[in-house]
Amino acid sequence: MVKCSRCGRKARVRLRYARLSLCVEHFTEFMEKRFLKIASENNLFKNINKVLVAVSGGKDSVTLLHLMYKASNYFGFEIHGLTIDLGIGKEYSKDSVEASVKNFEILKIPYTIFNLKKHYGFTVDNIALYGRKASIRRPVCSVCGTVKRYIMNKVALEVKADAIATGHNLDDMVQYILSSVYAGRIEDLVKLELKTPTKNGLISRIKPLVYFSEKETLLYVLLRKLPFNYNVCPHFRPRIFHEQIRKISNELEEVAPGSKITLAKMFLEKIQPALNKYYPLKEEKLRKCRICGMPSSSEICSFCKVRLAIKKVLKSEGESEART
Ligand code: AMP
Ligand code: ZN
Ligand code: ZN
Repeated sequence: MVKCSRCGRKARVRLRYARLSLCVEHFTEFMEKRFLKIASENNLFKNINKVLVAVSGGKDSVTLLHLMYKASNYFGFEIHGLTIDLGIGKEYSKDSVEASVKNFEILKIPYTIFNLKKHYGFTVDNIALYGRKASIRRPVCSVCGTVKRYIMNKVALEVKADAIATGHNLDDMVQYILSSVYAGRIEDLVKLELKTPTKNGLISRIKPLVYFSEKETLLYVLLRKLPFNYNVCPHFRPRIFHEQIRKISNELEEVAPGSKITLAKMFLEKIQPALNKYYPLKEEKLRKCRICGMPSSSEICSFCKVRLAIKKVLKSEGESEART
Protein backbone atom coordinates (compact mmCIF):
# COMPACT_ATOMS: atom_id res chain seq x y z
CA MET A 1 0.00 0.00 0.00
CA VAL A 2 1.31 3.43 -0.93
CA LYS A 3 1.05 5.68 2.10
CA CYS A 4 0.11 9.36 2.31
CA SER A 5 3.32 11.38 2.61
CA ARG A 6 1.65 13.52 5.28
CA CYS A 7 -0.29 11.14 7.56
CA GLY A 8 0.65 7.57 6.60
CA ARG A 9 -2.91 6.55 5.71
CA LYS A 10 -3.66 4.97 2.34
CA ALA A 11 -2.71 7.37 -0.46
CA ARG A 12 -5.25 8.01 -3.23
CA VAL A 13 -3.22 10.40 -5.38
CA ARG A 14 0.34 10.39 -6.65
CA LEU A 15 1.72 13.76 -7.74
CA ARG A 16 5.08 13.06 -9.31
CA TYR A 17 5.98 16.71 -9.96
CA ALA A 18 5.63 17.41 -6.22
CA ARG A 19 7.06 14.02 -5.17
CA LEU A 20 4.00 13.37 -3.03
CA SER A 21 1.48 10.60 -2.45
CA LEU A 22 -1.59 11.91 -0.66
CA CYS A 23 -4.83 10.79 0.95
CA VAL A 24 -8.03 12.66 0.04
CA GLU A 25 -7.82 15.01 3.00
CA HIS A 26 -4.20 15.93 2.39
CA PHE A 27 -4.67 16.23 -1.37
CA THR A 28 -7.46 18.76 -0.71
CA GLU A 29 -5.24 20.63 1.73
CA PHE A 30 -2.34 20.55 -0.75
CA MET A 31 -4.49 22.02 -3.54
CA GLU A 32 -5.84 24.78 -1.31
CA LYS A 33 -2.48 25.76 0.12
CA ARG A 34 -0.90 25.76 -3.32
CA PHE A 35 -3.71 27.96 -4.68
CA LEU A 36 -3.20 30.51 -1.89
CA LYS A 37 0.58 30.45 -2.38
CA ILE A 38 0.30 31.05 -6.13
CA ALA A 39 -2.22 33.84 -5.52
CA SER A 40 0.07 35.51 -2.95
CA GLU A 41 3.22 35.20 -5.04
CA ASN A 42 1.51 36.71 -8.07
CA ASN A 43 -0.57 39.35 -6.24
CA LEU A 44 -3.63 37.93 -7.93
CA PHE A 45 -6.16 39.48 -5.57
CA LYS A 46 -4.32 42.64 -4.57
CA ASN A 47 -6.72 45.61 -4.31
CA ILE A 48 -9.66 43.40 -5.20
CA ASN A 49 -12.97 43.67 -3.34
CA LYS A 50 -15.19 41.40 -5.37
CA VAL A 51 -14.49 38.65 -7.92
CA LEU A 52 -16.98 37.25 -10.40
CA VAL A 53 -16.22 33.53 -10.71
CA ALA A 54 -17.28 32.16 -14.11
CA VAL A 55 -18.48 28.58 -13.71
CA SER A 56 -19.35 26.34 -16.64
CA GLY A 57 -20.04 23.36 -14.38
CA GLY A 58 -17.04 21.43 -15.73
CA LYS A 59 -14.24 20.02 -13.54
CA ASP A 60 -11.95 23.05 -13.90
CA SER A 61 -14.37 25.81 -13.02
CA VAL A 62 -15.96 23.79 -10.21
CA THR A 63 -12.48 23.35 -8.70
CA LEU A 64 -11.85 27.05 -9.30
CA LEU A 65 -15.02 28.00 -7.43
CA HIS A 66 -14.15 25.95 -4.35
CA LEU A 67 -10.56 27.21 -4.26
CA MET A 68 -11.74 30.80 -4.81
CA TYR A 69 -14.10 30.36 -1.88
CA LYS A 70 -11.12 29.47 0.33
CA ALA A 71 -9.14 32.38 -1.07
CA SER A 72 -12.00 34.82 -0.50
CA ASN A 73 -12.01 33.96 3.20
CA TYR A 74 -8.23 34.03 3.41
CA PHE A 75 -7.64 37.31 1.57
CA GLY A 76 -10.95 38.93 2.55
CA PHE A 77 -12.76 39.63 -0.73
CA GLU A 78 -16.29 38.80 -1.85
CA ILE A 79 -17.17 36.35 -4.59
CA HIS A 80 -20.18 36.15 -6.90
CA GLY A 81 -20.84 33.12 -9.10
CA LEU A 82 -21.89 33.32 -12.74
CA THR A 83 -23.08 30.53 -14.97
CA ILE A 84 -24.23 31.23 -18.51
CA ASP A 85 -26.96 29.10 -20.03
CA LEU A 86 -25.76 29.06 -23.62
CA GLY A 87 -28.55 26.83 -24.92
CA ILE A 88 -26.29 24.00 -26.08
CA GLY A 89 -27.70 20.55 -26.84
CA LYS A 90 -30.71 18.89 -25.32
CA GLU A 91 -28.96 18.22 -22.05
CA TYR A 92 -25.53 19.85 -22.14
CA SER A 93 -26.35 23.39 -21.00
CA LYS A 94 -29.07 22.18 -18.65
CA ASP A 95 -26.64 19.81 -16.91
CA SER A 96 -23.91 22.48 -16.84
CA VAL A 97 -26.14 25.07 -15.19
CA GLU A 98 -27.50 22.49 -12.76
CA ALA A 99 -24.00 21.42 -11.66
CA SER A 100 -22.89 25.05 -11.29
CA VAL A 101 -25.91 25.99 -9.19
CA LYS A 102 -25.44 22.96 -6.92
CA ASN A 103 -21.91 24.15 -6.18
CA PHE A 104 -23.02 27.76 -5.56
CA GLU A 105 -25.60 26.40 -3.13
CA ILE A 106 -23.12 24.09 -1.36
CA LEU A 107 -20.91 27.10 -0.68
CA LYS A 108 -23.85 29.45 -0.08
CA ILE A 109 -22.50 32.15 -2.33
CA PRO A 110 -24.61 34.65 -4.31
CA TYR A 111 -24.89 33.82 -8.01
CA THR A 112 -26.37 34.78 -11.36
CA ILE A 113 -27.73 32.41 -13.99
CA PHE A 114 -27.57 34.26 -17.29
CA ASN A 115 -29.82 32.78 -19.96
CA LEU A 116 -28.62 33.77 -23.43
CA LYS A 117 -31.91 32.93 -25.14
CA LYS A 118 -33.99 34.86 -22.60
CA HIS A 119 -31.82 37.97 -22.74
CA TYR A 120 -30.82 38.08 -26.36
CA GLY A 121 -33.14 35.73 -28.24
CA PHE A 122 -30.62 33.24 -29.58
CA THR A 123 -28.57 30.23 -28.47
CA VAL A 124 -25.16 28.81 -29.32
CA ASP A 125 -26.99 25.93 -31.04
CA ASN A 126 -28.58 28.58 -33.32
CA ILE A 127 -25.10 29.82 -34.21
CA ALA A 128 -23.98 26.27 -35.02
CA LEU A 129 -27.00 25.75 -37.26
CA TYR A 130 -27.39 29.14 -38.92
CA GLY A 131 -23.96 30.75 -38.55
CA ARG A 132 -23.10 30.29 -42.22
CA LYS A 133 -26.41 31.67 -43.37
CA ALA A 134 -25.82 34.66 -41.12
CA SER A 135 -22.41 35.15 -42.77
CA ILE A 136 -20.62 34.47 -39.50
CA ARG A 137 -17.42 32.94 -40.80
CA ARG A 138 -15.76 32.02 -37.53
CA PRO A 139 -16.02 28.55 -35.95
CA VAL A 140 -18.80 28.12 -33.35
CA CYS A 141 -16.31 27.86 -30.46
CA SER A 142 -14.77 31.19 -31.37
CA VAL A 143 -18.18 32.92 -31.52
CA CYS A 144 -19.16 31.23 -28.26
CA GLY A 145 -15.98 32.68 -26.72
CA THR A 146 -17.02 36.19 -27.81
CA VAL A 147 -20.50 35.66 -26.33
CA LYS A 148 -19.12 34.38 -23.01
CA ARG A 149 -16.57 37.17 -22.63
CA TYR A 150 -19.23 39.78 -23.37
CA ILE A 151 -21.67 38.38 -20.80
CA MET A 152 -18.97 37.92 -18.15
CA ASN A 153 -17.97 41.56 -18.54
CA LYS A 154 -21.57 42.75 -18.50
CA VAL A 155 -22.44 40.80 -15.33
CA ALA A 156 -19.16 41.87 -13.66
CA LEU A 157 -20.14 45.51 -14.25
CA GLU A 158 -23.65 44.85 -12.93
CA VAL A 159 -22.55 43.18 -9.69
CA LYS A 160 -19.66 45.66 -9.34
CA ALA A 161 -16.95 42.99 -9.41
CA ASP A 162 -13.44 44.28 -10.00
CA ALA A 163 -12.18 41.05 -11.54
CA ILE A 164 -13.42 37.99 -13.41
CA ALA A 165 -11.87 34.58 -12.63
CA THR A 166 -11.95 31.77 -15.19
CA GLY A 167 -10.89 28.12 -14.97
CA HIS A 168 -8.24 27.83 -17.71
CA ASN A 169 -5.85 25.10 -16.55
CA LEU A 170 -2.19 24.19 -17.04
CA ASP A 171 -2.90 21.89 -19.99
CA ASP A 172 -4.87 24.65 -21.77
CA MET A 173 -1.99 27.01 -21.11
CA VAL A 174 0.75 24.70 -22.42
CA GLN A 175 -1.28 23.90 -25.52
CA TYR A 176 -1.91 27.60 -26.18
CA ILE A 177 1.75 28.58 -25.71
CA LEU A 178 3.15 25.81 -27.90
CA SER A 179 0.57 26.10 -30.66
CA SER A 180 1.09 29.88 -30.81
CA VAL A 181 4.86 29.35 -31.02
CA TYR A 182 4.53 26.77 -33.79
CA ALA A 183 2.16 29.04 -35.72
CA GLY A 184 4.28 32.15 -35.09
CA ARG A 185 1.39 34.03 -33.50
CA ILE A 186 3.44 36.51 -31.49
CA GLU A 187 0.44 38.70 -30.72
CA ASP A 188 -1.38 35.84 -29.04
CA LEU A 189 1.70 35.14 -26.93
CA VAL A 190 2.06 38.77 -25.87
CA LYS A 191 -1.60 38.82 -24.84
CA LEU A 192 -1.24 35.79 -22.59
CA GLU A 193 -1.14 36.90 -18.97
CA LEU A 194 -2.11 35.52 -15.57
CA LYS A 195 -3.98 38.72 -14.86
CA THR A 196 -5.03 41.55 -17.15
CA PRO A 197 -5.77 44.96 -15.66
CA THR A 198 -9.17 46.68 -15.83
CA LYS A 199 -9.03 49.06 -18.78
CA ASN A 200 -11.55 51.08 -20.78
CA GLY A 201 -14.57 49.34 -19.25
CA LEU A 202 -13.10 45.87 -19.70
CA ILE A 203 -12.94 44.27 -16.28
CA SER A 204 -9.70 42.64 -15.11
CA ARG A 205 -9.45 38.93 -15.91
CA ILE A 206 -7.61 36.40 -13.77
CA LYS A 207 -6.68 32.79 -14.52
CA PRO A 208 -5.80 31.41 -11.07
CA LEU A 209 -5.66 27.75 -12.21
CA VAL A 210 -2.94 28.00 -14.84
CA TYR A 211 -0.51 26.04 -12.68
CA PHE A 212 -3.01 23.24 -11.99
CA SER A 213 -3.21 20.33 -14.43
CA GLU A 214 -6.49 18.87 -15.63
CA LYS A 215 -5.57 15.66 -13.83
CA GLU A 216 -5.52 17.62 -10.57
CA THR A 217 -8.84 19.40 -11.16
CA LEU A 218 -10.47 16.10 -12.13
CA LEU A 219 -9.12 14.40 -8.98
CA TYR A 220 -10.27 17.35 -6.87
CA VAL A 221 -13.91 17.14 -7.98
CA LEU A 222 -13.98 13.33 -7.97
CA LEU A 223 -12.35 12.79 -4.60
CA ARG A 224 -14.37 15.55 -2.95
CA LYS A 225 -17.51 14.17 -4.67
CA LEU A 226 -18.43 17.59 -6.02
CA PRO A 227 -21.22 17.80 -8.60
CA PHE A 228 -19.87 18.54 -12.09
CA ASN A 229 -20.78 18.03 -15.72
CA TYR A 230 -18.34 15.53 -17.23
CA ASN A 231 -19.81 15.74 -20.73
CA VAL A 232 -17.95 17.44 -23.55
CA CYS A 233 -19.69 20.25 -25.43
CA PRO A 234 -21.32 18.73 -28.55
CA HIS A 235 -19.89 21.58 -30.67
CA PHE A 236 -16.31 20.84 -29.64
CA ARG A 237 -14.22 19.69 -32.60
CA PRO A 238 -10.77 18.49 -31.52
CA ARG A 239 -8.04 19.91 -33.67
CA ILE A 240 -5.49 17.25 -34.44
CA PHE A 241 -2.51 19.58 -33.99
CA HIS A 242 -3.73 20.80 -30.59
CA GLU A 243 -4.52 17.27 -29.44
CA GLN A 244 -1.05 16.14 -30.50
CA ILE A 245 0.58 18.96 -28.53
CA ARG A 246 -1.36 17.92 -25.43
CA LYS A 247 -0.35 14.30 -25.94
CA ILE A 248 3.34 15.10 -26.40
CA SER A 249 3.39 17.49 -23.40
CA ASN A 250 1.94 14.72 -21.27
CA GLU A 251 4.49 12.22 -22.56
CA LEU A 252 7.25 14.67 -21.66
CA GLU A 253 5.66 15.14 -18.25
CA GLU A 254 5.97 11.36 -17.75
CA VAL A 255 9.75 11.41 -18.26
CA ALA A 256 10.28 14.87 -16.77
CA PRO A 257 7.67 15.50 -14.06
CA GLY A 258 7.06 19.21 -13.58
CA SER A 259 7.97 20.14 -17.15
CA LYS A 260 4.51 21.58 -17.91
CA ILE A 261 4.61 23.83 -14.86
CA THR A 262 8.14 24.96 -15.69
CA LEU A 263 7.11 25.83 -19.24
CA ALA A 264 4.08 27.85 -18.11
CA LYS A 265 6.00 29.60 -15.33
CA MET A 266 8.97 30.43 -17.55
CA PHE A 267 6.65 31.80 -20.16
CA LEU A 268 4.51 33.94 -17.85
CA GLU A 269 7.35 35.25 -15.72
CA LYS A 270 10.18 35.72 -18.21
CA ILE A 271 9.25 35.22 -21.84
CA GLN A 272 5.96 37.14 -22.00
CA PRO A 273 7.40 40.29 -20.35
CA ALA A 274 10.39 40.15 -22.72
CA LEU A 275 8.16 39.66 -25.76
CA ASN A 276 5.99 42.51 -24.58
CA LYS A 277 9.01 44.82 -24.73
CA TYR A 278 9.92 43.91 -28.30
CA TYR A 279 6.45 43.41 -29.66
CA PRO A 280 4.16 45.71 -27.67
CA LEU A 281 0.51 45.37 -28.58
CA LYS A 282 -0.92 48.34 -30.40
CA GLU A 283 -3.00 50.34 -27.94
CA GLU A 284 -6.47 49.65 -29.20
CA LYS A 285 -8.67 52.69 -29.02
CA LEU A 286 -11.90 51.48 -27.52
CA ARG A 287 -15.16 53.33 -27.89
CA LYS A 288 -18.71 52.62 -26.89
CA CYS A 289 -20.69 50.23 -29.09
CA ARG A 290 -23.36 52.25 -30.86
CA ILE A 291 -25.98 49.66 -29.95
CA CYS A 292 -25.23 48.38 -26.47
CA GLY A 293 -22.75 50.92 -25.11
CA MET A 294 -20.18 48.29 -24.13
CA PRO A 295 -16.48 48.81 -24.97
CA SER A 296 -15.71 48.07 -28.61
CA SER A 297 -12.91 48.54 -31.12
CA SER A 298 -15.39 49.30 -33.92
CA GLU A 299 -18.66 51.18 -34.19
CA ILE A 300 -20.67 48.04 -33.39
CA CYS A 301 -19.15 45.51 -30.99
CA SER A 302 -18.52 41.93 -32.11
CA PHE A 303 -21.25 40.59 -29.81
CA CYS A 304 -23.91 42.90 -31.27
CA LYS A 305 -22.75 42.00 -34.80
CA VAL A 306 -23.30 38.31 -34.05
CA ARG A 307 -26.59 38.95 -32.28
CA LEU A 308 -28.03 41.05 -35.11
CA ALA A 309 -26.88 38.67 -37.84
CA ILE A 310 -28.24 35.54 -36.17
CA LYS A 311 -31.54 37.14 -35.21
CA LYS A 312 -32.11 38.25 -38.78
CA VAL A 313 -31.67 34.68 -40.00
CA LEU A 314 -33.81 33.28 -37.19
CA LYS A 315 -36.59 35.63 -38.19
CA SER A 316 -36.41 34.61 -41.82
CA GLU A 317 -36.35 30.96 -40.80
CA GLY A 318 -39.56 31.51 -38.91
CA GLU A 319 -37.91 30.59 -35.65
CA SER A 320 -39.31 33.54 -33.77
CA GLU A 321 -38.54 33.86 -30.09
CA ALA A 322 -42.12 33.03 -29.24
CA ARG A 323 -42.05 29.69 -31.01
CA THR A 324 -38.87 28.25 -29.54
P1 AMP B 1 -13.81 27.50 -22.28
O1 AMP B 1 -13.96 28.78 -23.00
O2 AMP B 1 -14.98 26.58 -22.49
O3 AMP B 1 -12.48 26.86 -22.43
O4 AMP B 1 -13.91 27.86 -20.74
C1 AMP B 1 -12.95 28.63 -20.10
C2 AMP B 1 -13.52 29.18 -18.82
O5 AMP B 1 -14.61 30.06 -19.10
C3 AMP B 1 -14.11 28.15 -17.88
O6 AMP B 1 -13.15 27.54 -17.07
C4 AMP B 1 -15.08 28.98 -17.07
O7 AMP B 1 -14.41 29.71 -16.07
C5 AMP B 1 -15.61 29.96 -18.11
N1 AMP B 1 -16.86 29.45 -18.73
C6 AMP B 1 -16.98 28.62 -19.79
N2 AMP B 1 -18.27 28.35 -20.07
C7 AMP B 1 -19.00 29.05 -19.16
C8 AMP B 1 -20.41 29.19 -18.90
N3 AMP B 1 -21.34 28.56 -19.66
N4 AMP B 1 -20.80 29.98 -17.87
C9 AMP B 1 -19.87 30.61 -17.11
N5 AMP B 1 -18.55 30.51 -17.31
C10 AMP B 1 -18.11 29.74 -18.30
ZN1 ZN C 1 -2.97 12.08 4.59
ZN1 ZN D 1 -22.66 46.06 -28.65
